[in-house]
Amino acid sequence: MISERMKELVKGSSAIRAMFEEGKAMAAVYGAENVYDFSLGNPNVPAPERVKQAAEYILEKEDPLMVHGYMSNSGYEDVRRTIAESLNRRFGTDFTADNLLMTVGAAGGLNVILKTLLNPGEEVLTFAPYFGEYDNYVENYGGRLIAIAPDTATFQPDLKALEKAVTPKTKAVIINSPNNPTGVVYSEQTIIALSRLLEQKQRELGTSIYLISDEPYRELAYDGVQVPYLTKYYRNTIVGYSFSKSLSLPGDRIGYLVMPSQLDDFEMVRDGANVAIRILGFVNAPGLAQRIAAMCCEETTDIQYYDTNRELIYNGLKDLGFSCVKPQGAFYLFVKSPVEDEKAFCQAAKKYHLLLVAGSSFGCPGYVRIAYCVARETIENALPAFKKLAEEYGLV
Ligand code: PLP
Repeated sequence: MISERMKELVKGSSAIRAMFEEGKAMAAVYGAENVYDFSLGNPNVPAPERVKQAAEYILEKEDPLMVHGYMSNSGYEDVRRTIAESLNRRFGTDFTADNLLMTVGAAGGLNVILKTLLNPGEEVLTFAPYFGEYDNYVENYGGRLIAIAPDTATFQPDLKALEKAVTPKTKAVIINSPNNPTGVVYSEQTIIALSRLLEQKQRELGTSIYLISDEPYRELAYDGVQVPYLTKYYRNTIVGYSFSKSLSLPGDRIGYLVMPSQLDDFEMVRDGANVAIRILGFVNAPGLAQRIAAMCCEETTDIQYYDTNRELIYNGLKDLGFSCVKPQGAFYLFVKSPVEDEKAFCQAAKKYHLLLVAGSSFGCPGYVRIAYCVARETIENALPAFKKLAEEYGLV
C-alpha cells in the first residue's frame, strides 16, 4: 500500500488528470479540431532551429564520453560559465560559474532550493494566484506555503498584506513574473518596494528572508515591457530559470538556479544545493540538454506568435463582455468568471468544447485560466464557442 500522504496527493491531482482525459475523450468524439483545449501551458511554437543545430553539433563533434558522462552535481563548468557570462552581458550582473547550478527545469530548481533552505515548520510566502505546485514543493520539505490574497484590480503583489504576513518563521518568498496564471509583469517600482520591505523585515527580525524568483517566462514579455533582474535589487535573491518556455523545451527538463555570492551564507547555500540535487535523485541536470542550453542561451522562441495570440484572445473575449487584466507576459489570460463558482463556469464551458482551468487551482477562485500557447486556428475557431458561453451568461 502506498503512503497515506501519497494517497491524498493522488486524490488532489486527479482534477488535472481528469481534464486531460476528458480532453482526449472529447477529441475522439468530436475531432481534435473541434475541441478548444486551453488547459495546458505546453508551448506550441517549435524550438528554434538553432536548438537542432546545436544538438547535431554536440552529438557529432563533442567527445561522447564527456557529453554523456557523470559530472559534478552542479553541471558542466563551461556551461555554467557561458550562461553566467550571458547573464552578465544582458543584466549587468557579475556572476561566475560558481553562482550557477544547472537544474531539471524550474520545478527541479525550486525543489533543490527549498530542500536546501527549509527546516520543518518554516514558512514560505507567495502571492495568489500562483503556480499550484508550490504547495507540494514547499510541503515536500515540511514547510508551510502561505498565500497572500490577490489584489484583483491589478494582480500586482499586495505589499501591505506581505508586511503583515512576514513572521520570524518566514524563510522565503516566492515570486513569479511574468506570472502564471495572470500574465502580469511586476514593475520595477514594485520590485524596489518589495526589496525595501524585505530588507526592513530582515533587520527587524534578525533573520534571512530569501526571495526566490521563479522565472520560466522571463523571455516572454510583450510591448517592450522590462522584466527587472531581481538580484540587482535585493541581496538575498535566488533566481530559478528554465528553458522550458523560452526555448520550447519542457520535455528536455533543463534550467538553472542563480545563487549570487552576496547571499547570506552563500557558501552553505551553494554547497547545500549541490547535495540537494544529488539526494533528491536528479544527481545532475541532463547533460545533452545542458550543452544545448549553453549554445542557445541567447536564443528565444517566436514571441511574436504568442503576442498575436494574446491580442486575438484578449480582444475577442473583451468584445464578448468578459473581463480580465491584459497580460504583459507569459502565455496566459486570467479571466473573471461571470459567476462566483468558477468550477461551474468551467463545466458550462465544456458544453461548447472549451477546456479552461479553474482559478482555485492557483489559489484564486472566481477566475479561470486560459493558456493561449495554442494554434492560431484554435483561438479563431474557439471565439464563436466563447460567444455562446457569453450569451449563456448574459454578457452579450
Ligand atoms: N513555475 C511556473 C510558474 C510554471 O508555470 C511552471 C510550468 O509551467 C514551472 C515553474 C515548471 O517549469 P519547468 O517545466 O521548467 O519545470
